[in-house]
Amino acid sequence: MDYLGLLQERNSQFNLISNSETEEIIWKHFIDSLAVHQQFKETISGSKDITLLDIGSGAGFPGIPIKIVFPDLQLVIIEATKKKTEFLQEIVEKLMLDKVSVIWGRSEEYAHHPVYREKFDIVVSRAVAEMNTLVELALPFIKSDGYFVAYKGPKGKQELEGARQAIIELGGEEERFIEIGIKDFIRTFIFIRKKQSTPQKYPRKSGIPQKRPL
Ligand code: SAM
Repeated sequence: MDYLGLLQERNSQFNLISNSETEEIIWKHFIDSLAVHQQFKETISGSKDITLLDIGSGAGFPGIPIKIVFPDLQLVIIEATKKKTEFLQEIVEKLMLDKVSVIWGRSEEYAHHPVYREKFDIVVSRAVAEMNTLVELALPFIKSDGYFVAYKGPKGKQELEGARQAIIELGGEEERFIEIGIKDFIRTFIFIRKKQSTPQKYPRKSGIPQKRPL
């Protein structure tokens, strides 16, 4: 069975995505996940050692579609909900995806682990937190000169305004801002480049980045 089929079959059991028609799921999850495929291509194609982290992947978005399109990528997923990681593990096995690790836990904790800290070329995250919180979760994982791609909605620009100070504090630099119309929805992609090492005190303990954004 394919990804879409399994997602629909397991949805009632795992509460993975909102109930939608098949076409809607394809637009909302698969096409949306791959909308910056061209930008990824510039970095990923031709390189065998690119590492990508998806924080709060839920049912696998955007990380799994990106991995399917760029099979040489080494993908790590950190997801806080156990049931979702069970589904993700099932997907990885059914689709026979190699070089994928699914981790159950909170990113704030794994970001302090030497195996993961400042080890990723690219970090992605969709629908997990406001930008001022999200940068604290994501930037500690990124290597020097790697980048973070935040999947944001129509208010992306506004969120970015509120995160500018945090981005600098965490060693990042705003690089690109792309708006793409996906069916009837405006997706904004914010690219943040890692310029300097993130101070060790970040991220703060689980829940604090959301409660008291930088
Ligand atoms: N990214 C997926 C998508 O766009 O369809 C799922 C979005 S869902 C609204 C947010 C997910 O992020 C949830 O599955 C939640 O468990 C996870 N999450 C939230 N904060 C997290 C954290 N600090 N570390 C790991 N996972 C987190």
